[in-house]
Amino acid sequence: MALCEGGEMAVSIALFTRDLRVHDNPVLVEASADADRVIPLYVLDERLVATGFANPNRAAFLADSLHDLHASLQARGAALVVRRGAPEAVVPELLRQHEVTRVHVAADASAFAHGREQRLRDVVGDRLVVHHDVHRAVASSALQSDPAHHDKVFTPYFQKWSRIPPRPPLPAPTGLRLPPLDVGALPEAEEFCAGEPAERLPAGGETAGRERLRSWLGEGIVGFAEQAAGLLTRTTSQLSPYLHFGCLSGAEVRCATGDATEDARQFARQLAWRDFYDQVLAARPEVAWEDYRGQGDRWRDAPDELLAWQEGRTGYPVVDAAQRQLVAEGWLSNRARLLSASFLCKTLYLDWRPGARFFLRHLVDGDLAANQLNWQWMAGTGTDTRPDRVMDPLWQAENHDPNGDYVRRCVPELRSVAGPAVHRPWDLDPVVREGLGYPAPVVDLEEAHARFAGTRRELRSRRG
Ligand SMILES: Cc1cc2nc3c(=O)[nH]c(=O)nc-3n(C[C@H](O)[C@H](O)[C@H](O)COP(=O)(O)OP(=O)(O)OC[C@H]3O[C@@H](n4cnc5c(N)ncnc54)[C@H](O)[C@@H]3O)c2cc1C
Repeated sequence: MALCEGGEMAVSIALFTRDLRVHDNPVLVEASADADRVIPLYVLDERLVATGFANPNRAAFLADSLHDLHASLQARGAALVVRRGAPEAVVPELLRQHEVTRVHVAADASAFAHGREQRLRDVVGDRLVVHHDVHRAVASSALQSDPAHHDKVFTPYFQKWSRIPPRPPLPAPTGLRLPPLDVGALPEAEEFCAGEPAERLPAGGETAGRERLRSWLGEGIVGFAEQAAGLLTRTTSQLSPYLHFGCLSGAEVRCATGDATEDARQFARQLAWRDFYDQVLAARPEVAWEDYRGQGDRWRDAPDELLAWQEGRTGYPVVDAAQRQLVAEGWLSNRARLLSASFLCKTLYLDWRPGARFFLRHLVDGDLAANQLNWQWMAGTGTDTRPDRVMDPLWQAENHDPNGDYVRRCVPELRSVAGPAVHRPWDLDPVVREGLGYPAPVVDLEEAHARFAGTRRELRSRRG
């Protein structure tokens, strides 16, 4: 038994943030190796709640994940200790009550996380141990010799990333022991955010995540390389909320899926996108809301068009289907996210920020790095090497929803329109069209795309 100088039991703290798992979690493994007793701690950070980071879908998923983590820790001899307040106030309080040798926490990319880490360091000093790369599939230390540097272009990053062999996951620790203390009450979803979650939300937590990964490794991944670009969600893994909350570790998912087949290699590429954006945000946290590489755009101010997009009433069925699915299910395939973002920023030529904010208000997997930087990629202000590319919603609809099933599933007014005609309601017989109660297009596509191309040309020529 490790004793401190005064003969008391040595205790360490594993401060969980969004690494809500017992498997492959360096924070928990090292904290439990450090001392006889461990405090697996979750702080319901009221400041984070006040920023409105949660939506009802993420709140429900997070509450599930905490309950599941508590059960897993109990099965290993401990429990999840919950406190409410700011970590920099809660942790010193525990330090006063117990002989805490070290406090372990995962580093994270956002400005909020950087601030939290600094504030903890101010109160804990050199007892704070910050674990890097708890969230990523490939450790940044294996990719970059200078931690202040970040990769700016995806393809060369991915080439380096692919050459790093997968790291074997750490086993979940066993025989954990708590010091005597009150464990506190587990939070319910309403404490993070009020409101009803979407109906078909996946269950949160490591147990559900591992189950999802198992079924993905079985049948799911077969055909991924061919089908991943579709509009329907069942062709991809749907692991994103589990990865976002750290119910699964990126490194473990990469290790489990490997790269033996083309499907596995294409899937690994998606995990690399996640790491790529995470390292961009970690190096430049301000790009959550500022242009990464602005083009000088002066976005139009058209609140009615923004509202039509938010409410799925643009008159372009595939865009409206995506927006309605987002609100109803808290979920969208990558293709649907891309075409909806392109429509807002390039067809309507409206700022990406309100779009990104709206996505964060609904997505169950809402993630600052992946959401904001994908939005910027699509707006042409981010890391895309072809910032002027535009997605034509009709081409997208006819190629990725050739029979119109996706649109009919999400837009009830159009359910009676058979086949691909659903993508062009303006071509229907005027009497039929009137009866549908579906809006006319909010813009003319050709004019809108010419406006965007012309504006960007002008901005380029002004820059010389
Ligand atoms: C405008 C826009 C907003 C987005 N917002 C988010 C977000 O808030 N949270 C989020 O996790 N993803 C976001 N993405 C990325 C991507 O759409 C989702 O990760 C993916 O659709 C989730 O489904 P999946 O888990 O079945 O993905 P799969 O295709 O099975 O991919 C496996 C994992 O790789 C990661 N991944 C896949 N594609 C990307 C990508 N382009 N960028 C970063 N990571 C990726 C995710 O963690 C995903 O779970 C966004 C994309 C766009 C275009």
